[in-house]
Amino acid sequence: MKFYNSLTKNLEIFPKKDSVNIYSCGPTVYDFAHIGNLRTFLFEDLLIRTLKDDGYQVTHTRNITDIDDKTIQSAQEQKIPLLEFTSKYTEEFFNDLKNLNFDQSSTTYLKATDYIAPMIVMIQELIDKNHAYETEDGVYFKTSSFNHYGDFAGLNLENIQQGASGSNSDFTKEDFGDFVLWKKHKESDGDVYWESTWGKGRPGWHTECAAMVNHQYPEGLDIHTGGIDLLFPHHTNEKAHCECLSSKPMAKFWLHATHLLVDNKKMSKSLGNFYTVRDLIDKGFDYKTIRFYLQTEAHYRTPLNFTIEGLKGAESALKRVNNFICEIIEKLTTTPNYQLKENFDTYLNDLLKENAYTYSDDSLKENFNKHLHDDLNIPGAMGEIFTTINNFYKGIAIDIENTFKDLERINHILDVFDFPHENILNDTTQKLYDLRIIARQEKNWSESDRLRDELLSHGIEIRDSKDGVSIRKI
Ligand code: AMP
Ligand code: ZN
Repeated sequence: MKFYNSLTKNLEIFPKKDSVNIYSCGPTVYDFAHIGNLRTFLFEDLLIRTLKDDGYQVTHTRNITDIDDKTIQSAQEQKIPLLEFTSKYTEEFFNDLKNLNFDQSSTTYLKATDYIAPMIVMIQELIDKNHAYETEDGVYFKTSSFNHYGDFAGLNLENIQQGASGSNSDFTKEDFGDFVLWKKHKESDGDVYWESTWGKGRPGWHTECAAMVNHQYPEGLDIHTGGIDLLFPHHTNEKAHCECLSSKPMAKFWLHATHLLVDNKKMSKSLGNFYTVRDLIDKGFDYKTIRFYLQTEAHYRTPLNFTIEGLKGAESALKRVNNFICEIIEKLTTTPNYQLKENFDTYLNDLLKENAYTYSDDSLKENFNKHLHDDLNIPGAMGEIFTTINNFYKGIAIDIENTFKDLERINHILDVFDFPHENILNDTTQKLYDLRIIARQEKNWSESDRLRDELLSHGIEIRDSKDGVSIRKI
């Protein structure tokens, strides 16, 4: 498996090992996440699922930035206590993750405000080791004390301009390139502060992630991820914190996702040119289409210009795969291995169990993997699926059972296709479906037909044939 490492600016082989720890910079919770943020988070989801599929045990941490200039300012503008304000958007963020089928089973979420004490300890250590100094308005990191500070982002230290610290109001620092670790309390911060050796105040943004990584992974990270805008100053500064205090690299691999654009400009909250998941749901798209589009439309290091037309294209492409799955399931019912309709689920389950993890070298799953293992080349991987589908419709013979197995396994990574029956039915339609099975067992055909029509009104089409029952979403 190879990834493009921003540290070495090269495609590098990722080592084979049992476990991998990953840290991803999370959302700043002063508004809903926009789909640009979610594109980056979905690239991380693809990374985690690909590693897991390849047998790695993944431990993933994502922070929630619930204290910074923007959260304080927005909470004040809306006259809501900071914690109440950020809790609302944190909850909304978790709703997005759930709705978009994020794999959360390996992820720990850390709120910055829960880790203020380790941040204070870290800042004190940096002062003790002469990497930081106190001024009248805060504590600053002395960038000149860290060799090769600018190398990561390809910057010449002398060229780093004012503003690199993330705030234009840090007048007291010794050098333009120095950045703030602790901001002493100002009147405009209201009642938001923590006590420290340097008086009341709050941590700088870069210190938040640095201290949480250090706290969680003292041995360093295998992979650190985020959007490309974070490379400088945020990741450069996080790295400086950690590597001044430890001889180990903060992370062996740094992976950065390129931006989602609108009209070829970065989608961002400050430009106001953003869409949230809710906006797209209101326009009639569903969660799986949004997930599919953001995750598979482009390689994570290629800019993606968002358009509604593009999203509609993804909707059709996803339908094409789902229809294909229905067709091959219908075909499965004619394979010699399939016997009775009552055994259909058992048959599918057995099919998936048998040789579930061994795929021949030229199988769809193996070909799909080859692309993903090449720096998560998702467009290439999707191309394999569409080639198989096109061949099928052209009448080229494909191995139906293996294609079904491969797609089901691929869906452990993508989590976006509809596989009968579990994925298609929700609580309501599952009940109707179960009632219909009973009605048919009781040979109550009129009730069975009524339930079929009711399912249709919920967008679920049931087709009965001599070989069994097939079910599809329309
Ligand atoms: P924020 O909520 O601004 O702290 O950003 C959360 C994550 O979203 C970070 O990894 C950012 O780099 C990323 N991000 C912000 N804007 C975009 C965008 N337009 N496209 C892709 N990722 C983005
Ligand atoms: Zn961070």
